[in-house]
Amino acid sequence: MARLRVFVNERPVDVARGATVRDAVAALDHGLADLLATAAAYVTDGVGRQVDARDPVGEAGGVFRVVVTARRAPAISKEALRRWPKAELHVHLDGSLRPATMLELAREQHVRLPADTPEGLTLALSVQGVHSLEEYLTKYQLTLAVMQTAAALERIAYEFVVDLAAEQVRYVEVRYSPLLHRPALTLTQAIEAPLRGIERAVRETGTRVGLIVCGIRTLPPAMSLELAQVAVGYRSAGVVGFDLAGAEHGHPAEDHRAAFALAVQHGLACTCHAGEGDGPASIHQALQSCGAQRIGHGTRLGEDPALLEYVVAQRIPRVSSSPSTPTGAWWTASPSPTNIISRTRRSGSARTSWFAWC
Ligand SMILES: [Zn+2]
Repeated sequence: MARLRVFVNERPVDVARGATVRDAVAALDHGLADLLATAAAYVTDGVGRQVDARDPVGEAGGVFRVVVTARRAPAISKEALRRWPKAELHVHLDGSLRPATMLELAREQHVRLPADTPEGLTLALSVQGVHSLEEYLTKYQLTLAVMQTAAALERIAYEFVVDLAAEQVRYVEVRYSPLLHRPALTLTQAIEAPLRGIERAVRETGTRVGLIVCGIRTLPPAMSLELAQVAVGYRSAGVVGFDLAGAEHGHPAEDHRAAFALAVQHGLACTCHAGEGDGPASIHQALQSCGAQRIGHGTRLGEDPALLEYVVAQRIPRVSSSPSTPTGAWWTASPSPTNIISRTRRSGSARTSWFAWC
């Protein structure tokens, strides 16, 4: 009897006619199928609509994704985390250097670092015990010190994608600010260099990558606008979004609204770091004045119930990254109100925003 070809989490599996969606998931991964039985996971079709796992697979096959929910998922082993395909939606290129590469670049460029071994450098870059966003951001001065050449930027971007691909990350949006590579590089050079590294890594690994450029809150808004103007020219070359980062308190996002408006006009997606170093009014501003479609962190969203309700109703993703633990944040393909609330509680301590398709 002919079998049906089904794609589960982008992997092809063949099942017998009459098999259920759950059977198709089990053909890919029994562990995932078991999660379906405990309601810790659910299945969507190719466009994100939830489907009943007990339904039969259609005669024409199908495309399904298994979403592990944040609230009900049992403890997930590190091995399973490594194995499952993931998407990374909030990660900073200048926070993602291999320590050995950093040391090599420092030697080449005659840059002094606080340590001369990978272990020592890892310790020097650790943010354990750091209590404020401002203090956290000082660590980036060390990484940025060795990222002021086109060759270094290209290499770092390449290695970053290769490393993530090895962790089964299939889609990544990586961000950084080209403004922080001036005056050594022009904005054009600072955008083209990582794009070259990314292109090579994409060819080798198959992981898909989007680049997000960040304006910086503490720099003049005219610079954000200039960055947006240059970045939109690379929309078809891999730049997918515009973001605003940097010290938040006392540096309102709405000062940079012209840059956001220009980015939107030219079809770039917009996200904004908000509600971490400042309160919910800052999130409100990012959404209403700047048109952000996604919020970075937003850890203080829960302080304003009306705003929280709005974010839930509008299904605005709030994507976090922070350095302390690797497993705190889970992002689902189709955010539901409960997911958003659970993220409010959990994601502040997450190193990464892995978004599990499985
Ligand atoms: Zn961030």
